[in-house]
Amino acid sequence: MTKPNLHPALDNGIAATSAEFSGGTLVCACTENAVRVRVEGQIAHNHACGCTKCWKPEGAAFSIVAVAPHDKVTVVENGNKLAVVDPEALIQRHACKDCGVHMYGPVTRKHPFQGLDFIHPERFEEKGWAQPGFAAFVSSAIEGGTAPSAMDGVRARFKDLGLEPYDCLNPALMDYIATWTVENRT
Ligand SMILES: [Zn+2]
Ligand SMILES: [Zn+2]
Repeated sequence: MTKPNLHPALDNGIAATSAEFSGGTLVCACTENAVRVRVEGQIAHNHACGCTKCWKPEGAAFSIVAVAPHDKVTVVENGNKLAVVDPEALIQRHACKDCGVHMYGPVTRKHPFQGLDFIHPERFEEKGWAQPGFAAFVSSAIEGGTAPSAMDGVRARFKDLGLEPYDCLNPALMDYIATWTVENRT
């Protein structure tokens, strides 16, 4: 059986995390006037995601997505090319209007993830960003076009890679969300 195509940063071997990584610059796919976004510090909660909202490279069934605190994320070049994909969405994904790459997605409304920006670390020009630790919203890959019959293979492949597959977020983040919900009951 052929291995399912998950994402180039997974299929071609997962790059190691570097303790030296102290931030980097995300760059879009434009060959001219690329958008650049600076992220200070290491990223957190990096994971593969099967949802249909995340930006994915051509042919990938999953995205690679992580978060950084909003105050550590700065657009440094060609920010005029950015537009919000869906202003109604929880994550305000800012995409390059020319190449379509999502550069950063802040959560501004009251929510457990408020104050965090979602980013796609594969767009870093530098190596050493924290490697993905799990796979989220795996079943949603079907909505993105993966055959239901391929899902056993997809989950097995994630397990081979050491990434536990979940159909929501991982237990740590689900518990974090539930705790926030309890603490913010009115
Ligand atoms: Zn671009
Ligand atoms: Zn996603």
